[in-house]
Amino acid sequence: MTRSQALLNQIKGDNLMTDSRQRILTGDRPTGKLHLGHYVGSLKNRVELQNKYDTFLIIADVQALTTNFESPEQLSQDVRQVARDYLAAGIDPEKATIFVQSMVPEIAELTVFFSMIVTVNQLRHNPTIKAESEQYGYKEMTYGFLGYPISQAADISFCKANLVPVGEDQIPHIEQTRKIVRKFNNMYDQVFPEPEALISDFPRLMGLDGKAKMSKSLNNAIYLSDTEKEVNQKIMQAKTDPARIHKDDPGHPEVCTVFHYHQAFNTDESDEIEADCRAGRIGCVACKKRLGKKLNLFLDPMRERRIKYIENPALIDEILMRGTEKARKVAGETLSQVRAAMKLDYFSA
Ligand code: SF4
Repeated sequence: MTRSQALLNQIKGDNLMTDSRQRILTGDRPTGKLHLGHYVGSLKNRVELQNKYDTFLIIADVQALTTNFESPEQLSQDVRQVARDYLAAGIDPEKATIFVQSMVPEIAELTVFFSMIVTVNQLRHNPTIKAESEQYGYKEMTYGFLGYPISQAADISFCKANLVPVGEDQIPHIEQTRKIVRKFNNMYDQVFPEPEALISDFPRLMGLDGKAKMSKSLNNAIYLSDTEKEVNQKIMQAKTDPARIHKDDPGHPEVCTVFHYHQAFNTDESDEIEADCRAGRIGCVACKKRLGKKLNLFLDPMRERRIKYIENPALIDEILMRGTEKARKVAGETLSQVRAAMKLDYFSA
């Protein structure tokens, strides 16, 4: 068990005395509807953690521009879509602060200050930047994309977050933030805590096509906003064990997407399904129908919560404005400390 997984288990423990001053920063780029992979990878944790920690949820529209800068017109709709998905999933705006990144200019300011203490070489070692440069080279890479790990460090640090719930692939980003913060604190003054990564206890959810990742761009996702009919149709197309031709052939659930989803959303029955599949006692169609039923039961409360926001879209804007206002207040306080630490507070008394 890794240190961050142990920390997550500890946090979830009933007997833990929680420090109410601890803060969590988490969020998403608004690139469209959220899917079950988002839920398993982070949303589920966020819904639990909001009860114990001061939770800040960023809708990172500026970061979305690092790749979607040519089509910003979609952002306004996507920002609201993400907020609606959060609220439908059980994020409570009375407990969590949901805000829009671009509406907190102090984050951009902190990004500039942090960028002075990060070398280009450090950025080149970031796994996402490295992968992109290996695929396309640096010629077309924008300055914004190269620098987005710095922007991410500013997202986490402006509100002095102690914990950041992330997927395994995000650990290097948190490590980078820790390095930046450490350097800032050593060079100027102790302004920021070093954030810890909190890793989800469920491995990444595979796509309907059996690919390692559920993703909108791969067109292999079940969305939190899908209807019952859409969910059932998608599951019927999900990839199963290719070696199973007849319904009494012994199966290999470990290679089956449907079984993977049973493990995530039908834990009570997954052992029985595994045994029945291996023994050839259950057909894939029946197995998929059972999953469809469970998944729809799981999504039903989200569908109910969503209705309120669909019928009254102004509620979403109100929640976003209120959250953004709170985030700006916190950001203002942090940036005053940053300017003082960097001796840039020329006109303060
Ligand atoms: S019976 Fe279920 S677990 Fe087994 S291969 Fe078919 S769909 Fe997958």
